[in-house]
Amino acid sequence: MTEKRCVICLKEIEVIEKPDGTKIVCDNSAQPLMDGRCCDACDCLLVIPSRHIGTSLLTDIGSSMLSLRLLHRHAQKKGFEDSTEKTESKNNES
Ligand SMILES: [Zn+2]
Repeated sequence: MTEKRCVICLKEIEVIEKPDGTKIVCDNSAQPLMDGRCCDACDCLLVIPSRHIGTSLLTDIGSSMLSLRLLHRHAQKKGFEDSTEKTESKNNES
């Protein structure tokens, strides 16, 4: 099974299987934002607008927000090594 991932949000790209077995991959060109393929959501929200208003403005806002979020996600995935917030709130108990 080869699952495609969106180059922008890294989510799995939806594949629709028709009753006759034909598969439709719901991917889109991520150009001019990025190389590769992206999901419908990123296409509509980021790629298509960027073609109209230009990539510079959109990539500035969008990519900084995305990178922030992805950093946050990866930090969460790592587990709770950085549990500074938790230990702080625990201190209130005593
Ligand atoms: Zn996406």
